[in-house]
Amino acid sequence: MLHVEFIKAFEDNYIWLIKNNNNECVIVDPGSSIPVIEYLKNRNLTLKKILITHHHQDHIGGVKELQEIFRDIELIAPYNINLPNVTSHVSDGDVISIFNHTFEVMELPGHTKEHIGFFGDKKLFCGDVLFSGGCGRVFTKKYDDMFESLLKIKSLPGDTLIFCAHEYTENNLKFALHTEPKNHNLVQYNQVVSDMRTKNIPTIPVKLSNEKKVNPFLRCDILSKNDLENLSEFDFFIKLRKQKDLF
Ligand SMILES: [Zn+2]
Repeated sequence: MLHVEFIKAFEDNYIWLIKNNNNECVIVDPGSSIPVIEYLKNRNLTLKKILITHHHQDHIGGVKELQEIFRDIELIAPYNINLPNVTSHVSDGDVISIFNHTFEVMELPGHTKEHIGFFGDKKLFCGDVLFSGGCGRVFTKKYDDMFESLLKIKSLPGDTLIFCAHEYTENNLKFALHTEPKNHNLVQYNQVVSDMRTKNIPTIPVKLSNEKKVNPFLRCDILSKNDLENLSEFDFFIKLRKQKDLF
């Protein structure tokens, strides 16, 4: 299994760092270069690759400076992203390697048009598509895209670890509990998360199998059945996402 660490950036971003035994590393979504440079220096790590999930500034903001400092690093990004100096543009089904482990590129549009995730070694780096207890905002307004992207993630093996890019869990669970106050797994998980956050422990990564029990956006099939409006799973998802926007 690959070893993953996190670098904190801004208020609540996680820049994921994958490391091998030779002090080489790959990072995902460096929104800022400053914490990355400091982290690498302190640990004597060499940066080999940068992976990008989507174009938002808090995911790409550090790329230019890192490329200037660390020469010859590979920059892997969505095929339709507007970003200079990309060395590999990737799309759905493409395969990349991270230290001899194979990762598959998954197109996950909805939050943004070009959003992708990287799945391999029982890990998914999914940027801002799925969060623990929630999901990303649908900036594209293409709810069908986002719904399909979440179903795609949901179909991965239950033991997949979700490495999302933000520590939003505690807040997301407030809305989740509002939606499903009698979900015992959710009540329990909320207690665990609240304890972890009090101690400033990251709640990420999370197991997909756990998310399926607590995350309302992965439970639209179940929740729509109890909804008074008799909505389809997809229409229920739209309603839920719009409610969350205003929560
Ligand atoms: Zn984003």
